[in-house]
Amino acid sequence: MVRVRAGGGLVGPVIGYVGCWAHVGLIFRSHLTGKSPDLESTGSGTTTKRSSVSSGSRSRTRRDFLARFTDTERFTNSLQDWFASLLPLDNKDGPVFESPFELVELQKFDYALEGVSFQQLTRMPNAVYASTSASVEANAYLAVEDFLHGTVKSLWEAFWSQEEEEPVPFSVGCLYNQNLRFYHAEQALALGKLEDLSATGVLLKNPRHPHGKWDHILELALLTPDIESSDHHHHPTPSLPVLGEALFYALRILIARSVSRLDFSQSSNCVFVLLVDTQHGGVVRVEGDVSKLDFDVSSVYDCAAEWVQKHAKISVSPVDRVWNKLGNANWGDIGALQLVFATYHSIMQYFGPPRHSIEDLAADHTSRLHSRRQERQLGGDDASVNENNGMFRFQQRTMSPEIVEVQEEEESKIEREGDSMRLEVGSVLWLEDTNYQKGYQINRVLANATFIASPVDEAGGESVFLYVGSPPSQLEPPWEDMNLWYQVQRQTKILSVMKQRGLSSKYLPELHGSGRIIHPGQCQKPSSGGRCDHPWCGTPILVTTPVGETVADLVNEGRFGPEEAIRCCHDCLSALSSSSSGGIRHGDIRPENVVYVTSGVRHPYFVLIGWGHAVLEDRDRPAMNLHFSSTYALQEGKLCGASDAESLIYMLYFCCGDLLPDLDSVEGALQWRETSWSKRLIQQKLGDVSTILKAFSDYVDSLCGTPYPLDYDIWLRRLKRNLSEDHGKEVETSG
Ligand SMILES: [Zn+2]
Repeated sequence: MVRVRAGGGLVGPVIGYVGCWAHVGLIFRSHLTGKSPDLESTGSGTTTKRSSVSSGSRSRTRRDFLARFTDTERFTNSLQDWFASLLPLDNKDGPVFESPFELVELQKFDYALEGVSFQQLTRMPNAVYASTSASVEANAYLAVEDFLHGTVKSLWEAFWSQEEEEPVPFSVGCLYNQNLRFYHAEQALALGKLEDLSATGVLLKNPRHPHGKWDHILELALLTPDIESSDHHHHPTPSLPVLGEALFYALRILIARSVSRLDFSQSSNCVFVLLVDTQHGGVVRVEGDVSKLDFDVSSVYDCAAEWVQKHAKISVSPVDRVWNKLGNANWGDIGALQLVFATYHSIMQYFGPPRHSIEDLAADHTSRLHSRRQERQLGGDDASVNENNGMFRFQQRTMSPEIVEVQEEEESKIEREGDSMRLEVGSVLWLEDTNYQKGYQINRVLANATFIASPVDEAGGESVFLYVGSPPSQLEPPWEDMNLWYQVQRQTKILSVMKQRGLSSKYLPELHGSGRIIHPGQCQKPSSGGRCDHPWCGTPILVTTPVGETVADLVNEGRFGPEEAIRCCHDCLSALSSSSSGGIRHGDIRPENVVYVTSGVRHPYFVLIGWGHAVLEDRDRPAMNLHFSSTYALQEGKLCGASDAESLIYMLYFCCGDLLPDLDSVEGALQWRETSWSKRLIQQKLGDVSTILKAFSDYVDSLCGTPYPLDYDIWLRRLKRNLSEDHGKEVETSG
């Protein structure tokens, strides 16, 4: 199905939790291995009959050892000399520890994840904006838990599970230091245990041990501030306290597995520990044979340290930014990929190789790329595609853009044989709704599968915008195609809702038609509905009026002056006033989504288009745009009452001449907003354009982030007064 990211609703950590624990009493069985942690016997006394006496005593020694091996700090101290001896090696010939993953493995894994949806995640908090560091920390635990929950669920469903709706055999919880047990973050926070939380674990779900057992741990994530050690810029090795803690937990897990009745035969001697802070993430992999550990219960820390030095193979990945943009695992950034890949390996350790291999899933990459190219071709976009060179490029490390770009090289037209269907100037496209057929002749080809067309049956009819969606043959459209989905399917829904709710305004787009494309050739569609084999069969189309040039175009041509700025502010605000009266917020205001209507009207005006990301109900997410999204949207993934107005201010600010600042992360974008508002840079700049825009930006500033509604009427009246007189008379205030 369509990979709904923003519109799909946020499953928060609380809900994730309920999901885990609602299955208490349900016995899980892996379809692959028949393994079930539930089926093991719980009483320690009843189990020894199965083991020989010697392994029984060995296991008792190890359990005793574990019971005494509880103090991270003492363990870390015993590693000090060893760690000090390593550091001089750092940065000479590369990092001290090699990375657990090859870049090429990560790339293939990324291809495999292309069609896998990850639930939208709770965002990592931003320390700059939080009121206290405790609230940052609490939110960070929720976010990490949410991230791990979403990750194991998606990985399980994509790679291992056999049936839909199969319960995910994992639970996720926070490790409470005082008793080394696991609690759901919500629960731990409610009990005031925040200070003593030290890690978040992915465990095999087992209702008999709701607080987890150490041999049930598949993977741990350590949440520690500043994992990126500042001393080692090029090959950052984690600091000793961080690495020591990771090694401590890894060793505890390995020992617990060595006396477990669970079968980790896939690779019982290897553990992944994730390192995360609110900015970065990395992976530590510890491998070694714990039977070589001297289980001397009188000196557990020395024995453990000796084992680490002599018998452990440690690999550490580069520490990279993780919580970019939406903090979603699907963004192809290498930091998140490393964490997800480690989780994948951790699942495999217990459940064995997946049913669908990485190679299988990655193999679809080529066909996805191909359909993406066809999409572009349909769009008539000038960006051209070379069959062999649409290569995916990894951008490494933090200096690079955070989203991997699909780079496409020189254009070469792909001619489809037989059912060739080109949409170019002059071609006529027919669409079919339930009770009518409409034809549109294309007059102009714009970018992103958008056209300007005129209806063929209305002589001298007005021009329309015609948007072509993704052919439904792509069951899992790549991310790029989601834009088309928002532009066509979702926007059609929103405009229909506006119609139903009786919202109409000169400054809102109007639905002219919507339906499915009628493709050339015979349609073999079954009478019951559905689609035939033609690649374009069922492709959705949306047609709206009026048409105009975008504000982005006006700015590029230097035609967006003070008069246009005030009018744009008035007209957009009027559109927002109408939509908000029907409970609809826009959520994606930017220069490409405002058009200037000049043709066939005496007084040009602006129309707010691009309603695909509009927010109708609480679970809808607005679009994320580092330059134009409101502060609240960036922080919370939601809109507040003044969010659209705030975006409108940013749009006017940038369109009135200020260069777009170079923002490459949510944190950077929030910082820019904070600085600009606190120094009143935005008000000053807009003040140069007009005093009314300055006053309006002051007003919006005062409302940002508050629950108070905007007083549209007052500002529409004031803005209208500032429009040049003869035009002003005809300006409608709203509705
Ligand atoms: Zn058909």
